[in-house]
Amino acid sequence: MDKLKYFLAFFVLITLSFSSLAQSVQANALRSTSYSTISKRTPVDLLIVGGTVVTMNAGREVIEDGAIAIKGGKIEFVGKRTDVLRQVLPKRTINAAGKVIIPGLINGHTHVPMTLFRGIADDLDLQEWLTKYIFPAEAKNVTEPFVRAGTRLGLAEMIRGGTTTYCDMYYFEDAVADETKKAGVRGVLGETVIDFPVPDNKTYQAGLEYAEKFIKKWQNDPLIVPAIAPHAPYTVSGEHLLEARDLSNRLHAPLVIHLAEATSEIDFIQQKHPGMRPIEYVDSIGFLTSRTIAAHVIQANERELGILKLRGVGIVHNPQSNMKLAAGVAPVPLMLRMDLPVGLGTDGAASNNDLNMWEEMDTAAKLHKVFSGDQKAVTAEQAFEMATIRGARALHLDSLIGSIEVGKRADIDIVDADDLNQIPSYNIFSTLVYSTKANDVRTVIINGRVVMLDRRLLTLNENAIKKDANAYRTKIIDSLRN
Ligand SMILES: [Zn+2]
Repeated sequence: MDKLKYFLAFFVLITLSFSSLAQSVQANALRSTSYSTISKRTPVDLLIVGGTVVTMNAGREVIEDGAIAIKGGKIEFVGKRTDVLRQVLPKRTINAAGKVIIPGLINGHTHVPMTLFRGIADDLDLQEWLTKYIFPAEAKNVTEPFVRAGTRLGLAEMIRGGTTTYCDMYYFEDAVADETKKAGVRGVLGETVIDFPVPDNKTYQAGLEYAEKFIKKWQNDPLIVPAIAPHAPYTVSGEHLLEARDLSNRLHAPLVIHLAEATSEIDFIQQKHPGMRPIEYVDSIGFLTSRTIAAHVIQANERELGILKLRGVGIVHNPQSNMKLAAGVAPVPLMLRMDLPVGLGTDGAASNNDLNMWEEMDTAAKLHKVFSGDQKAVTAEQAFEMATIRGARALHLDSLIGSIEVGKRADIDIVDADDLNQIPSYNIFSTLVYSTKANDVRTVIINGRVVMLDRRLLTLNENAIKKDANAYRTKIIDSLRN
C-alpha cells in the first residue's frame, strides 16, 4: 500500500514538472487534479469570504455568499465564494459570513479640520454664525498643529463610519494630506484660496503659489489627489477664479468650489453681472471644466444643470448642512433624472455636526420626499449610489473607486447585518440606507490595507485624538472671550 502511495506521489510530481514545461498544452487536462489547481491559483494579499457583496457595478449585482480577493491594493477577483476560493491562494483571510460588504463610502465635501469647531455655535442666523463665531474662531486658532489635530479627529470619525474617500477644502492642506496619508485614507484634498487673508496665506497670490507647490508634491501619490479650491464665486474675483482654473488645467488637478449655495450669492452675482445667476456667471468666464467639483448647487434650474452636464462638472449634495443652515434644497431628483454625477457630502462639522455618511444617505432619501411630496423622489438605492459609484463620478474618480469590481482599488467596508436596528431585512438597499448606522461598520479596507478591524482603529490613536480635541476646546473658548 505504501509503495502504491509513493508511486502515485512520484507520478504526480512528474506530471507537475512536465506541466510547467508545456503548460499551455496541458492546461485543460491538469485542471482535473487538485495539485495542478493549487499551482494555478493566484497568490493574493487578502481574501474576504462569505457575506453579501453589494457590488454597485453597472448591473447593480448583489452576490450572496460572495468573496473578494485583493492583490497589490486592487480587487483581483470578486464573485461567489466557491468560485473565488478555487482561484486564489490568500496570505490572509477575513471571514465576513453574515455581514454585508459594500464599496467604501465617499464623503464628497467637507472641511475636515473643522471637526474641532463641532457645535461651537448652532441655531443662529448664517451671518451671525459666520461673523461672530466661525471667522473669529478660525482667525484666532487655525494653525498647522490645529489642522493636524482636527484632521486626525475627522479621519477617525470617518473611518469608524466606513468613509474611505473624502473631498476636502481647507487651509494648510499639505498637513491635511500628510495626516490623511498616515491614516491610510483616500482624499481629494483642495487647498482653499480666497480673496482675503487666511491662516496659511495672507494674499491670493501666496495661496496660489502654495497650491501649486502642494499639488506638485502630492501628485501621483496612491491615496492623495491634490487639488485647488477657490472658495466661492462671491469670495474670489473672476480673474482669480481663472487663475485657479489655469493651475488646475496645467497640472491636471481637480478644481473644487462652493457653487450656487445661497440666495445671497445670487444677489451678489446679479449686482456685479446683471442678468446672470451664479452658474451662468462662472460658465460665462470659462471656469467650468471636466475637473470641476461643485459643492451644494442649490440655486440651480434645469438649464443651469444642463450647463454643468455639458461641462462635465461633478456635483456634491450636502443635505444635512443645507438643512441646518436653512440654505435651501438642491434639485437632486432632477439631477438624477438628468443622470448628473452627483454625490453626497457632510460639509464641515461646524454645520452638520458630524461626518456620518449613513445619516446623509438617510436624510437625502427623506428630504426630497417631503420637499417634493413624492415618495419616489430619491429612493434608498439612489441614495446609496450617491454615496458610492455616483459619488465617485462626482469626484471624477469612478475608474478607480465607487464599486466592487475587478481592477478597481480595494476600498471596502464590511458591515454588520444582524444588529437589532437592522433585522429583519427584506431589501438590502432599504436596510443599508434607512436602518444601518455608522457604528454597524465593522471593518474598513482602503487601497487594500485594513485600517479598522472589528471596530478597532489600526492607523490612528483614538485616545490621543480625544485628548487633543478636548485641549483645543479649552483654547478655542478662551480665544473667543478675548
Ligand atoms: Zn463647505
